[in-house]
Amino acid sequence: MGFGRVSSGRVRGPLDAAARGAGFGSMFALEWNVRPRVRPQLRAGVVPNLARTPSVPDLSHAPFLLVWEFTRACALACQHCRAAAIDKRDPDELTTAEGQELLRQTAAMGTPICVLTGGDPVQRPDLEELIHLGTAGGLRMATIPAATERLTHERLASLARAGVAPVALRIDAPDAAVHDAFRGASGSFASTVQAAHEVRGLGLPFK
Ligand code: SF4
Repeated sequence: MGFGRVSSGRVRGPLDAAARGAGFGSMFALEWNVRPRVRPQLRAGVVPNLARTPSVPDLSHAPFLLVWEFTRACALACQHCRAAAIDKRDPDELTTAEGQELLRQTAAMGTPICVLTGGDPVQRPDLEELIHLGTAGGLRMATIPAATERLTHERLASLARAGVAPVALRIDAPDAAVHDAFRGASGSFASTVQAAHEVRGLGLPFK
């Protein structure tokens, strides 16, 4: 399944009303941009390597995976970043209430997996609340945090209590200098390795 945006057709099922309310009446769920005010994006198409395989929905009506660009805020400055990330949250992000509704509709549609990415998802204090809500509603809630000083043991433990699965971290090179240059942040490689140990230590599914 690809990532290509489909700009014609309609969002079907319970997300339709939300899409129309957001001013997007003509998108299909393989890649669905939720832009009530700016640009959180929901994409479908990558299947994580999960320990437990979620049931596959009717893909003619719902995507297997929803990727929510949860925030633009991020302390890193990766060369490949397409999120135009800055170390500050955008006031036009989906609110907590809007996110709750999005997750409810996603679960109702039959999509089994939601990935919270960014930006850096841990920059939002409601990350755990939404992971917990999605998990309680039957979704597998994954996240892809940036390995920065915000990704502490306490925050990872909090994500674990909320039910996150899995946590994904990214290493771009076996050499710290190359990785750090690519990520635009000195110490990023060491932070990523440390975070990986923390995730393992907490017994969380890890990618
Ligand atoms: S971690 Fe992600 S959001 Fe942050 S700068 Fe890198 S690519 Fe962009």
